[in-house]
Amino acid sequence: MVILGSTGSIGVNALAIAKRFNLHVEALVAGKNIALLNEQIKAFNPTCVCIADEADKSLVNHNRVYVGNAGILEILNRSMSDIVVNALVGFVGLAPSIETLRLGKRLALANKESLVVAGHLLDTSKIIPIDSEHFGLWYLLNGRAVTGMTITASGGAFRDTPLEQLAHMSPADALKHPNWNMGSKITIDSATMTNKLFELLEAKWLFGCEKLGAIIEPKSIIHAFVEFQDGSTTAHLANADMKLPIAYALLGEVKERILPHVDLASIGGFNFSPICEQRFPIWEIKDDVLANPKRGVVINAANEVAQTHFFQGKINILELAQLTKKAYHHFEDTFPQTLDEVFEIDKEVRHYCLSL
Ligand code: NDP
Repeated sequence: MVILGSTGSIGVNALAIAKRFNLHVEALVAGKNIALLNEQIKAFNPTCVCIADEADKSLVNHNRVYVGNAGILEILNRSMSDIVVNALVGFVGLAPSIETLRLGKRLALANKESLVVAGHLLDTSKIIPIDSEHFGLWYLLNGRAVTGMTITASGGAFRDTPLEQLAHMSPADALKHPNWNMGSKITIDSATMTNKLFELLEAKWLFGCEKLGAIIEPKSIIHAFVEFQDGSTTAHLANADMKLPIAYALLGEVKERILPHVDLASIGGFNFSPICEQRFPIWEIKDDVLANPKRGVVINAANEVAQTHFFQGKINILELAQLTKKAYHHFEDTFPQTLDEVFEIDKEVRHYCLSL
């Protein structure tokens, strides 16, 4: 397989599964963490690697090193593997997703931004999602008529923070996720609930279900619910560890235990609560976004710019969501029909957000 984003949270877990099941790793793509990439080269002996910056090339312990976004596409084109794990973060993951599908390879997709910005233009029949909620939904499907799907949210770092303190929370506070150890972008997206909005969009493209919702389950043990025509609702429970969805994405069928079972007696009980718009202002546009899913590219671009502003201390966590919503309303007539338009709108939205 080819692993894009091998030095990230998902990439490291994918390599753990590759090691356990003795899967061949043909190529590794990393950004700037050359020290970890060198360890991975030693452990997995890939045919080639790719990094983000030319300046780091001499630090990489490999004789076939590609560089940059063009390097990633070249690796994909030269690769013999039939499966690509896309665990890059952000819009940069879109072009490799498109190329993977164009080459007829299977796409094990963690890079949720690909589906958020261009779900209507990607062949989802070739995509195996790496996300605990979508894995949970998929696991629950049993051939019976489905009437609704619900995914859960942990509530992120600020789920219990008094509302009046939210505006004073720092990026370091936002990075303290209560249940999951993930990369910084998705952790901030969890603190603003933007991550759940993205996951609903992903679910829309992957499952085509009209009735989609999300609810807070603070323990991150229940990941998804499916409602069936007959009135039944089933739930998917598993400990919070991405190795389970990754194992299914890479192996197809899993016959060994990947995680310890959930110990219900020690958990004691579950609490659920609705997602509150005062705490998570992005939720105000949830219904509109789900009714107009092609506008995901606007939210994603604005959110990426707003996150940068937040990390630079220019805006607080509530203003992060406000900026995203402002761009969403400003570009209200924007419905990209082609991939070229997706790339063009992404640029326009970033330009607009930077000019504010
Ligand atoms: P991380 O930030 O931990 O990892 C991102 C990876 O992408 C790193 O290997 C990084 O390299 C690499 N990277 C970033 N930019 C570039 C670039 N320009 N060129 C090459 N490589 C690059 O993120 P996560 O693993 O947490 O998340 C990855 C994706 O999976 C995201 O879209 C996220 O939303 C999604 N996801 C993550 C989950 C999780 O549990 N973490 C769960 C479900 C989905 P380096 O570090 O070397 O700079």
